[in-house]
Amino acid sequence: MALDEYRKKRDFKTTPEPSGDAPVKKKTKGDELFFCVQKHLASHLHYDFRLEWNGVLLSWAVPKGPSLNTADKRLAMQTEDHPYDYGMFEGVIPEGYGAGIVMLWDYGTWTPEVDDVDAALRKGDLKFTLDGYKLKGSWVLVKTKYGGAPNSWLLMKHKDEWSGPLDIAEFAPHSVKTPNADFAEILQGETPDIWRSNPPARGGDTGQMFKKIIERALSMTAGTAEETNTNNTKGTKSTKTTTQKAKAAKQPTAAKSAKKAASKRAAKK
Ligand code: MN
Repeated sequence: MALDEYRKKRDFKTTPEPSGDAPVKKKTKGDELFFCVQKHLASHLHYDFRLEWNGVLLSWAVPKGPSLNTADKRLAMQTEDHPYDYGMFEGVIPEGYGAGIVMLWDYGTWTPEVDDVDAALRKGDLKFTLDGYKLKGSWVLVKTKYGGAPNSWLLMKHKDEWSGPLDIAEFAPHSVKTPNADFAEILQGETPDIWRSNPPARGGDTGQMFKKIIERALSMTAGTAEETNTNNTKGTKSTKTTTQKAKAAKQPTAAKSAKKAASKRAAKK
């Protein structure tokens, strides 16, 4: 039932995403619960934060990604529940809903810090502990009325030994599934055809959008993307990024060399 919306939005003939038909092992008290964060380069870059609960993954789209800084309140828009086996998904969605590149940015287990998770979700105040590769320690999701949107929450880090001023999205931007792969490498590895025919041999809006996504993936590889800019408050790196951007603007071949570098790296695997 909980996956109706998930299935309605997708055509499983064209998307590599799991249909959610695979049986899910029932968890009992004391079993570890799964969490993941999928970095999703779609029409907009965002981070999909997912917590396993009652056999599905409760999901929030976090535009800026999680922050270890306790002063940051990261907007988290709750989206449709995802199937449990979506949790380890990484790859390319060539068309349709969510078209773009999905990177498994972090995963691990989570532990509720409340006795009654369902009540906490209804109340809109869920405290929990994460044990991932990148995200650890105590966190909270708080429901808000941001802009009157009914599904908006805030994701915040609690102060503990895992909080601090490190910009984790910038410090550790790559995949934890395909070690250290960036978007360009995932794109190349998953869909060499799309990669070779860059821009992809597809017409219409999706083709146009995917062309932009490929360009964006390449510019991230080159270190010129907004990615290095978005969550950034540190002066030194900003300067570097600006310099890199200026450099890239002067060199129309920057994307080409990025592509070369990506193929070299992939060949080494
Ligand atoms: Mn998404």
